[in-house]
Amino acid sequence: MIIIMLGAPATGKGTVASILSESFSIPQISTGDMFREQIKQGTELGKLADSYMSKGNLVPDEVTIKIIEERLQQNDTKNGAILDGFPRTIKQAEELDKILTSHNKQVDLVIDLVSSEEEIIERMANRRVCSNQNCKAVFNTVLNPPKQEGICDKCGSDLIKRKDDNVETIKNRLSTYEQNTSPLVDYYKQKGILRVEEVSQKKGRMGIDVAKDIERTCKW
Ligand code: ADP
Ligand code: ZN
Repeated sequence: MIIIMLGAPATGKGTVASILSESFSIPQISTGDMFREQIKQGTELGKLADSYMSKGNLVPDEVTIKIIEERLQQNDTKNGAILDGFPRTIKQAEELDKILTSHNKQVDLVIDLVSSEEEIIERMANRRVCSNQNCKAVFNTVLNPPKQEGICDKCGSDLIKRKDDNVETIKNRLSTYEQNTSPLVDYYKQKGILRVEEVSQKKGRMGIDVAKDIERTCKW
């Protein structure tokens, strides 16, 4: 089964994706993580991606589609995948449909996480990620703090703030989302595979609660 995580930055896509990845035994594929890995390794692709990501702009479609196409050829995706952060444009969604059709697959479910701008900005400001590329655990200094400040509970590595989680970039990421990615909501609604889920700390409904509901109601 192929699941897509939609939703503005810091709505909890990664959290929901990692829980579902374990319970459905299919890999979580995050284009943001793939780009960050390339940046860390200092590759040409990494340098190119960084020039867009650091400003809160989207990496060009050709580049992004190519890395997803290659990733979906790997054997661990034979039973499906959870795409976390892809597609982000109509062009990417159309190309994804073509790639999946050529593998006799299709998008089965699209989870759209919705949250207020106020909560999104707060979550981004408080987000800390594990610096260990093989761990990638995500914490929140207020909502989900690590046991020891600045240290990952899972692997003991240092926690860091993502370079693009700063006030200036956040605003641009939100408007990029509105402009380029939100049209995908209608694209998938028309296909009848969209599931909208609200994420709100005020209402006591976080990514983990959404994931549990989806586990309960989607039996594969
Ligand atoms: P978030 O959802 O919090 O913004 P991501 O890790 O998904 O975090 O994305 C970080 C950045 O990586 C984006 O702002 C964008 O620059 C780039 N990126 C990730 N996925 C894509 C994509 N599908 N198309 C274009 N750019 C992408
Ligand atoms: Zn860790």
